[in-house]
Parts: sequence; structure tokens; C-alpha cells
Amino acid sequence: MIRFDEIKYERPDYEALKVKLKQTVDIIEKSSDLDEIEAAVLEFNREREHCETMGGIVQIRSYLDGTNETYAKELMEIAPASMSFDVTPLFDAIAKSPYKEKFEEKYGTFLLEFQKKKAMLYTAGEEFVAEEQNAITELHQFVSEMKFEFDGEMISESRLAIFRQDDDEEVRMRATYADKKAYVDNGKAIGDYYRRIVKARNKIARANGFDNYLDYVNVSKARLSYGEKELQQFCDNVRKYIVPIIVQNNEVIRKRFGLEVLNGMNAGRCFPDGPAKPLVDTKALIEKGQEMFDDLDPEFGDIYRRMNENHYFDIDLSDTKVTGIGFTADIVEQKIPYIFGNYLKTASTLTTFLHECGHAMQVNTCLNKFDIIELHAPVQDIVEVPSKTMELFSHAYAEKFFGKDAEKYIIGHTTDFLSEIGTYCMAHELETYLYNNEDADMQEWIEKFNELSNIYSPGIEPTFLDLHKQGADFFGNANLFSFPRYVISYSLCSLTSTFIAAEFEKDKAKGVEFFKRIAGIGGNMDYATALASVGLKPGYDEEVIKESAEYLKKQLNLG
Ligand SMILES: [Zn+2]
Repeated sequence: MIRFDEIKYERPDYEALKVKLKQTVDIIEKSSDLDEIEAAVLEFNREREHCETMGGIVQIRSYLDGTNETYAKELMEIAPASMSFDVTPLFDAIAKSPYKEKFEEKYGTFLLEFQKKKAMLYTAGEEFVAEEQNAITELHQFVSEMKFEFDGEMISESRLAIFRQDDDEEVRMRATYADKKAYVDNGKAIGDYYRRIVKARNKIARANGFDNYLDYVNVSKARLSYGEKELQQFCDNVRKYIVPIIVQNNEVIRKRFGLEVLNGMNAGRCFPDGPAKPLVDTKALIEKGQEMFDDLDPEFGDIYRRMNENHYFDIDLSDTKVTGIGFTADIVEQKIPYIFGNYLKTASTLTTFLHECGHAMQVNTCLNKFDIIELHAPVQDIVEVPSKTMELFSHAYAEKFFGKDAEKYIIGHTTDFLSEIGTYCMAHELETYLYNNEDADMQEWIEKFNELSNIYSPGIEPTFLDLHKQGADFFGNANLFSFPRYVISYSLCSLTSTFIAAEFEKDKAKGVEFFKRIAGIGGNMDYATALASVGLKPGYDEEVIKESAEYLKKQLNLG
């Protein structure tokens, strides 16, 4: 392995890679020698890995130094070729060849099956896809051009945002009113866009042989062995076991702040004097991180040490670095992950670093385990399990990072965890309703949104009830239409992570063992099959949710 800053960059040649792909497909189609085919597939994969690695390097280096024009230009140059590179002909050829059996023996049946099912999603209905895209673009355009009446003047959303954060509560209140009033006034137009999007999507699904858009999207999310029924069961169980904890916790928060009611204006905070403050600066965080990973497991400690010593993470602040983002990248050729971040000595940026370390452990395992790129990352419903689990494992080490604020950190972090589970289940149930009721009155859509918000954000009253009833919060939430059937992934991952953390709390070694098994899951199974393969039940299983709920209550000190 080469140190990150010593890796030599050269422009990836996607044209040559295209030629290589064609040659490889030819060999698969013509040869009857399975060893020859396998060697060709692996050789193509190696060349692809080189391109991906170079692409990753240039992206990270341009983020590390936003002022470096060479890298910025280089990134613009290669991004289109990298993004449009289509590897499906390879899998199509394998699926039709005598090599298929050997391939599936080695990598499992999921990959080819998923590729085939995905291809079936795009056989017809192009005009509806175009209509969907147009409606989304026009909606965002419309919302971004909206004006808000404030102090007798019509102002933009970004100017209004300043008043919404004013120190004076009265100003904040008026600005919030202006915001909600504008969404109600523009509700007719926004609602029409919403409906166009929903209708276009239902048409896409029908054109491709699905009764229902939701089943259609689930396939694209690699939900092959489970679907609508299980996801609804998940939401039902969240309502039954998780929502009551949110109720209890919100009541504690309300009392802590001495408020009569929690509402949209004051919700989202946990402690009157702000969140827990880390003791550690960047250098100390990295050192304490080493202690945490050494203590968790020698293998984790080794991976972390190798990354640190070879400059595979950068979480320092600098004047030239792109801010506000954190991610883990696969440096495929070096078989090691890279963590990019901005540590601001706050609880949330500390959590982000440990979250990314969780991803890194998974990436490291799969880079070294699988020899084709498709298998390096698990499916969406699993990908956040290692990262979120690591966030929860960190509770056991909170004192290292927060000293006397340790408990405050655990409570604040768990509160965020709960609220995310609820918010995304809410979005999920709303989608279920919308796509099954595309012709219902707009007022019925609004009422469904309000009803579900009330269920999943219990104890938080709408700030301006009248405007709320007229759809202010529904029309102000266009993002709900951006990623159908996607956000529920986060809630599912959270639940599985919580279950592993609960096991960890009872028996550290057992929890770590579950983590390692999950980290070894690549892209060769869907969520339910993968969990079963490592001896875990899915997040929608009632026993799993029950045990997770007990753990969450304990983290919050709720009796
Ligand atoms: Zn993540």
C-alpha cells in the first residue's frame, strides 16, 4: 500500500476501458473455456479499478484543496465519462454464457438476478420518465423563485432565512409566519406539481408491467426477498414500540426547557445550554479514536492505525478545504478506505467522524474480500448499518471524548437517532398513501400528511395551526417527493444497528462479532437475505424492534 499523498495521479482512460469492455464481452460470448472467461473478467475489473481509483483520488484532492485549479479542471474532464460508463453489457453477457454457473458459484445469484430485474424497470414509458423529470425540475424552480411577504416587502427565501434565525423571538415568529403563509398562498401550484410527479411515476410503473409504483421502486432499491408488506410491518412496529419512547422523551425535553408546549419553533433542541461539548481537538480525537478501536477489536485497531499512519484520513480544518461534508471513499487499488471530513470540535462532527469510521471498517473488509467492484458496497438497506452501529458503540467510550458531558452526548445522540427513525417512517407511510390515492382531493393529501406528522412527531404542536391545516408544512416539504422509497433505508439501518448495539451492551464480544459479520456483507445479497446469513433477524421483526426499544430507553435514562 502506498501512502495517500504519494499515490501518483494519471488521467483514467475511459475510452480504453470501453474497448476493454467490448473485448471482454466478446470473449464471454465466443469462448467455451471458463478459465479464459474468468481471467478476462478479472482483467477488465482490474483496469476498471484503476480508473475508479484515479477518479476517487482526483475528487478527494480537489475537495482537500478547493483552490487547486488543476484538480478541479481534471475532475470536470473525467466526471461525465466516469458517470456514464455502463457495465451492464458485461453482466448481460455473463448471464447468457456457460460461465454463469461458475460466476454464481463464486459470487452468489443475487448480482445477476438484480441486474436482470433492474433492466426490466426501463423497458418502456420513456415519455413518463421525461414528464416526471420535467415536473420535478419545474417544482424546484417554482419553489426557488418564491417570494415571502415580510415587513411589507416581498423577499427571497435566503433573506427570510436570516430573520428566521434572528436572536429576537418575535422576529423569528414573524419570519416563520411569512414562510408558512407563502407556502399556503402558493399551495395550489405546488400541489399541482406534486400530483404531476405522482401520476407520472404511477404511469412509469404501469408501462413496465407493475400494478403499483411502490413495488416498482422497491425493485430498484434491491428489495427482492421482501417489500411493501414488510416495510409496512416495520412502520407499524415503529409506531408500537419506538413512538412511545419519542413521546416520553419529548415530554422530558419540554420540562427541561420549562415550556408549556413544544412546537416547530423550539423543537429539535435537547438541552437549554446546547449540545455536549467534546474535550478533544483533532489530534486528540484521532488518538482517542485509536484507543477506542484498539479496545473494540484488534482488527479494527489495525485498520484504523494503517489509515492514520498512511494519511488515509483528513478531518482537519483548513482554509482551502471544502466544508460541510464528510464521506468515506474506496481507494480500490490500495485496498483501503479514505475518510474525508471537517471536525469542528462539536458533538455532531465528532459523531460524523465515528460514523465514517464504521463505513471504513466495512469498506476495508469488502475491498479485501471481493475481487469485483459491484460487490464492494452492500445494498442501500444495509450500507448504513456499520456506520450507525459504530455511532452507538461510541456511547461506551463517550467519556474519552466528552468527559463530564458524556451522558449529555449519549442522550442528545439517541434523541437524534429516534427522531430520524420517526421522520423517515412518516415519509414512507405518506408515500404509501399518495401513490395509492393519486386522485384524492389535495385537502385529503394535506390531512394525511398532517395526521402522519402528528403520529411520528408526537408532542410537537404545529406553530401556526391555521396555516398548518391549509397545508403550509406539506407544501413546504417538496423534498418528500425527491427520493421515493429511499429514506426508509435509514430507519431500517438504524433499527438493525440499534439491535447490534443492544447485543454489544449485553456482551461486547458478541456485538463486535455481529458488526464484523455485517461488515463482510458485500453487494451479493439483499437486506433480509444478508441478515439471515449472519444470524440476524430483519429490522421489521417484532422481537428485534422490542429489544431495540429497550436499549434506546436505557440510553435516554427513561424508566
Ligand atoms: Zn453513512
